[in-house]
Amino acid sequence: SHLSDATLHKLPAGTKIPAYDRGRVARGIVHLGVGAFHRAHQAAYVDECMAAGETGWGIVGVSLRSPDTRDALSPQDGLYTLAIRSSGEEELRVIGSIQSMLVAPEDPGAVLAALTDPRTRIVTLTITEKAYLRAAGGGLDTAHPDIIHDLANPQMPRTAHGFLAEALTRRLAAGTPPFTVLCCDNLPANGATLHRLLTEFAALRDGSLSAAGDTGIADHIANQVAFPSSMVDRIVPATTDADRTRIAGELGVDDAWPVMTEPFRQWVVEDNFSAGRPDWEKFGVTMVGDVGPFEDMKLRLLNGAHSGIAYLGLLSGHATVDRAFADPAIRRFVDGLWAEAIPTLPEDAGLDTATYTAELAERFSNTALAHRTAQIANDGSQKLPQRIIASAIECLEAGTEFVHLTLVVAAWIAACAARGKTLPENHFTDPLDAALTALLDQQLPANETVTAVFDLAGFARDHAERQTLIELTAVHLVHLRRDGPILAFAALGI
Ligand code: NAD
Repeated sequence: SHLSDATLHKLPAGTKIPAYDRGRVARGIVHLGVGAFHRAHQAAYVDECMAAGETGWGIVGVSLRSPDTRDALSPQDGLYTLAIRSSGEEELRVIGSIQSMLVAPEDPGAVLAALTDPRTRIVTLTITEKAYLRAAGGGLDTAHPDIIHDLANPQMPRTAHGFLAEALTRRLAAGTPPFTVLCCDNLPANGATLHRLLTEFAALRDGSLSAAGDTGIADHIANQVAFPSSMVDRIVPATTDADRTRIAGELGVDDAWPVMTEPFRQWVVEDNFSAGRPDWEKFGVTMVGDVGPFEDMKLRLLNGAHSGIAYLGLLSGHATVDRAFADPAIRRFVDGLWAEAIPTLPEDAGLDTATYTAELAERFSNTALAHRTAQIANDGSQKLPQRIIASAIECLEAGTEFVHLTLVVAAWIAACAARGKTLPENHFTDPLDAALTALLDQQLPANETVTAVFDLAGFARDHAERQTLIELTAVHLVHLRRDGPILAFAALGI
């Protein structure tokens, strides 16, 4: 048998199960992108709110692409196991906050109906960095086929932008107040960024719809819809078949898609909700006026280190974060990276970087997570600007020297080039892979390679320090190509 409302009472005594009547919960949140992260983070916080009696915030989960999560969770009444793992310990918690699941490509109308439902007051998103469809310069990628499709077919959207714009249009027409849009992806100023991209999308949409005499939606989105930014933090590796087998053994019933995570969790949210919100602060969420400093600390220290560990780890043959981090050379490298990134963070924002990096070192050492370096390596072109390039630009502007930051960029390029050679083909992927692979196959000199990669990915575009960054990265790439990471560290004095 499998996990479901009917089998909940059969679970072993140590397993935590929803301590509330799921049947009495009303929908309040639509979530786009029901991946592992959402299920370990926001859905767990909302589950705690429900257990405390807040029954108006049930989650309707929407997949914009694959039916895989719906196929796993629907037969289980939306239930799944969250396994909270630290070296030597594991706590199992069944999460009940996801009430139903929709698959957008199968039925876009049902997704629009959920978004338009007046009970829906918050829309949250974890659709990965690349799904925001930003062009290399940072604006909306107006040449993307899905954007072109959504502008031509506003009632049958494919992208998050298309769904949000159409739903907000319908709500406005029906006199339903807009929902709050809460972005939980690792983008810089994620709420403000999505606000800007969606306003840009809506202006194009207004332009193409104006002939039909419809009223515009861009002004409404620009001025009436709340887009709080948020910093989200919990390490959530992709679930493996071994995890499924182990969890089924512990539960005594099958769970088609349990989620693995660490004990640590953090959520800092800008308190800007136009249509209400759960009392999250009672459950460990920090509500603030400005999330920017927290977000930068997390992107530059956690995510920046993660990218360094991933690319240097892959080049050194380490399959997981804990193993790479146990390599003394990489451990030293991460300390050096932190020392370069910390001075770029604001001094007067009350950030405790010493405690934060000490906690990170402990989290990266968690051997129970087996967080794969190849998973973190995905989508580097979308991740490095906010994790690494932003710190490097600020160091150059302040006149401080650095070596670790640009070595991460060089290691990304070297790891991309190693696919199909020392690393398996498609060991990790990137939305720019077609162009990237064609470029790297030419095996141009380091300087030309790095210049072309910066052009392709839009790194430091239109920035005065762009050429300096390219030159520093190229020097590092020369060392990595010739000597591999460990000797490159020595040559660069790391
Ligand atoms: P996942 O692979 O489990 O899920 C990704 C989700 O995004 C899926 O629902 C997938 O369908 C959707 N998606 C992927 N590409 C898409 C596209 N092009 N268009 C629309 N939807 C798309 O990944 P995850 O672990 O849930 O992570 C998702 C995001 O959450 C990350 O990219 C990051 O921004 C954020 N996050 C993750 C972690 C973590 O540790 N996993 C930590 C903090 C933040």
